[in-house]
Amino acid sequence: MASETSLLKDEDGRAFGSCTFLFVLTTLPALLVLAACGSSKKTTGQSVVTACVLPDDQANSLQGHWSSPPIKIAFHAGEFSAGEKGMIQSAVSTWNTFFSISKGLAIFEVSAAESPVNQTGPTCVGSTIPDGIVLYKRGSSWTRSASAVALTTFCTTSAQGGIPKMYNAIMEFNYRDFFNGAKNPDLESIAVHELGHLLGLDHSCGPLRSNAANVACPGPGSGNFLLSTVMFPTVFFDSGGNGEVKRALHENDQGRANCLY
Ligand SMILES: [Zn+2]
Repeated sequence: MASETSLLKDEDGRAFGSCTFLFVLTTLPALLVLAACGSSKKTTGQSVVTACVLPDDQANSLQGHWSSPPIKIAFHAGEFSAGEKGMIQSAVSTWNTFFSISKGLAIFEVSAAESPVNQTGPTCVGSTIPDGIVLYKRGSSWTRSASAVALTTFCTTSAQGGIPKMYNAIMEFNYRDFFNGAKNPDLESIAVHELGHLLGLDHSCGPLRSNAANVACPGPGSGNFLLSTVMFPTVFFDSGGNGEVKRALHENDQGRANCLY
């Protein structure tokens, strides 16, 4: 048994090249801004990837899977506003819509009731938590890296030659260092990414948690398609402190996710 973590790091600056300029000057919805940058593939009825597609250079990027979806999710009691819940629910819907089309599967189920369970990490020994995966909004109680916007931690059984089975997890959002007026990530985009981890996806590039080989992450402004994947490990901020908006699954995210379920 093991407890593993996946985090979404931040990066300052002039990311996305000319797109940063658009971010600053336009009042258009952010999705349109991203579309103007070129390479983002949306999850639409026409473009859903239904096959398992795992490129050789991403072969080590499947971390685990759940044996019996739906994966239950609950908000920790008294922390998230209705608006925040709505944005996370939208991220859940993005994955649910995708898996509904590709596999006929209801992958996530969000509990209407908040959870009183209070964890600092997932319990990997002993009983499972009936509330499912509890989401936490951490302020001064954030204990992880200051550069991590969010973190998903889960337990796995041994792989035994296949993809490890996941059980128990927590998802934490860093409201100490982000969402604070100075640095404002797009919560829905962050949640789409973390839910990808919760499904069992590792990042689309870069050093993986296992330190196994994987395709290297391209630099911002390179135009590489990996920058448009929701599972890219870094979120970029414009000069005003606003995080990029990346709410739609890229075909690369979809193809890899199909290999898990
Ligand atoms: Zn991540």
